[in-house]
Amino acid sequence: MSENILKKPESFYDDFQRKPGADTLTTHYCPGCAHGVLHKLVAEALDDLGVREKTIFISPVGCSVFAYYYFHTGNVQAAHGRASAVATAVKRAHPDSIVISYQGDGDLAGIGGNNILQAANRGENFTTIFVNNAIYGMTGGQMAPTTLIGQKTTTTPRGRAFENEGYPMRVSELLATLDAPSYIERVMIGDPKYTMKARKAIRKAIKAQIEGKGFSLVEALSACPSGWKMTPVEAKNWVQEEMTKIFPLGVTRDKIAEIEGKVHNRNGNGRKPLSDKELVKTLDIPEAETSTIYPLPEVEDRYKHSEIKIAGFGGQGVLSLGVALSQMGMIHQYHVSWLPSYGPEMRGGTAHCHVKLDHEPIGAPLIENPTILVAMNKPSMDKFEPNVVEGGDVFYNSSLIDEPPSRTDVNAIPVNATEIADELGNTKAANIVMLGGIIAKTGILELEAVVNEMHQLIKKKQYVDLNVKAVKAGFEAVQSMSP
Ligand code: SF4
Repeated sequence: MSENILKKPESFYDDFQRKPGADTLTTHYCPGCAHGVLHKLVAEALDDLGVREKTIFISPVGCSVFAYYYFHTGNVQAAHGRASAVATAVKRAHPDSIVISYQGDGDLAGIGGNNILQAANRGENFTTIFVNNAIYGMTGGQMAPTTLIGQKTTTTPRGRAFENEGYPMRVSELLATLDAPSYIERVMIGDPKYTMKARKAIRKAIKAQIEGKGFSLVEALSACPSGWKMTPVEAKNWVQEEMTKIFPLGVTRDKIAEIEGKVHNRNGNGRKPLSDKELVKTLDIPEAETSTIYPLPEVEDRYKHSEIKIAGFGGQGVLSLGVALSQMGMIHQYHVSWLPSYGPEMRGGTAHCHVKLDHEPIGAPLIENPTILVAMNKPSMDKFEPNVVEGGDVFYNSSLIDEPPSRTDVNAIPVNATEIADELGNTKAANIVMLGGIIAKTGILELEAVVNEMHQLIKKKQYVDLNVKAVKAGFEAVQSMSP
């Protein structure tokens, strides 16, 4: 007699340690919610198809966001509505992976409506599990594009009216009008016979992806008892009795058998992948100059992980000073990152950028508490001085900032950058004067190397000499202050 052992799929974690709270054995979904059942169907399919280890789940905002608590696969979180765009990127970057984009209706049909349409139309080779519960569940029960006519939500308290809010959107039918998708089916999570059909559809969709047939989607009509303010039983019945009238179950597209071979292999498509050299030639990119590499400078320990925030008016060369530090950092063999901040600052306020020069690999480019602040104007000093780490350096443009930093637990280094630049004949060189000052105080770059490689920073040849003078002048100004 054969034995049928029911056990948790391996595509789930044994216990859900990522979930907050003491209970690590059950999910956080509300009683009667369809997410748990859908998760199980997907997890079992991944197990049985033998693809768990190469599966990457994409979960955006909504109740689906917490798939990473449960699935023992790769997981990427996407911004609201952007799961299909992220899935596209992940699949193209890792064509051998199995990518599951797991999205609710507010996310997929509302906020990400255009994303899913474009991804399906391109025939991206990933699988979407579309959880349609006719409401924005997690964010407060607002109307979604799939909300039924007359259905009460927090944003349609008198019920959805087509005159005001339009009709429910049938995503599966809409996508089935496109040429590219290989397989689209609408199923329901409810009585076991429907759930078994959903199981089959999910397997078929993932298999289509494994075989490289292109975009596949399973829309699962699902209960949201909490959002609908029903008991689990009422909600299950409502799916079957009301939702299926508007969203008929069944296959809206199946052309898997017609598609020969892996037509959606994005590395192929009949074209041979280009080597890096061929790509550079095709894009007509001029060959990069080979830079001289300089030894990593010997510095005090605190400068081995320099987190530098540079701020000033738009037009003071704040972002280019960041680029200069980063570019020169690279040729000195630092790990480097540069993160600019654009925005209304470009029109007169403060612009800033974050630069890291590190002896170790860099985890993230954002800097909250700089070890070095470069303030090119007063508003920047006022804004960022409080965040500098204790014992950090504050370089400030003393030509424009009268007062030194108010804090006494940081090292204040005045550099009359604008004045020096003016004397050299060009105010715009103030940022490079500041660069010289930073080098003099910290030693994180070699002055000689920066002078030698100035032509890399300054593209207009006629300004190279001016900037060489500027960096030297800034260096001397700060060096002359040293005790
Ligand atoms: S709010 Fe709705 S969709 Fe979200 S977990 Fe609860 S029942 Fe499920």
